[in-house]
Amino acid sequence: MDEEYASGLLENAVRELSRLPGVGRKTALRLALHILRRDESEGIALGEAIIDLRKNIRYCGECHNISETEVCPVCASPQRDHKTVCVVENVRDVMSIENTGQYNGVYHVLGGVISPMDGVGPDQLEIDSLVRRVADEGITEVILALAATMEGDTTNFYIFRKLGALEGVRITQLARGMAVGNEIEYTDELTLGRSLLQRTLFSDSFNQ
Ligand SMILES: [Zn+2]
Repeated sequence: MDEEYASGLLENAVRELSRLPGVGRKTALRLALHILRRDESEGIALGEAIIDLRKNIRYCGECHNISETEVCPVCASPQRDHKTVCVVENVRDVMSIENTGQYNGVYHVLGGVISPMDGVGPDQLEIDSLVRRVADEGITEVILALAATMEGDTTNFYIFRKLGALEGVRITQLARGMAVGNEIEYTDELTLGRSLLQRTLFSDSFNQ
């Protein structure tokens, strides 16, 4: 049963805050009251930051990373190696890999991994656009940097088969130093950087 709020405005704020992951109604109420107690400008800055985020961030037309511009700074940079593409599940993985300082290529964000259990098939992911990019842009290496989970492996293999027909493309994957099932974003930067540098040919993983 819903609690009674002294104000409909407070109730609104609590309802919206409690939609956030990990925030129950009790925490939402505590946050709302905290915002009320603090300086008015802080609450307004928070609201404006959320509105700005939602209205002004879009997805890069090339790699599907979040961006404020049509093409993200990584894709737009002449300093990056545009012949090497690192395939990741989500934008947090891009941040993790950027934080290692060990990667100078560009990215391709799939927006998830193939997961029949969750109803996610290849068509819901940015796989076709990856194949098109690799074919059209003369990409020479595709690094598969998905989590070492069953879904990650399935997706890696699907992409490998899709790209297999293209000539002159090396398909590699992160060295499996990470524990099985580790999500990339939880791996420390040193380990992640090392597994990038020591990447191996994907075909070696099943041509034993
Ligand atoms: Zn981009």
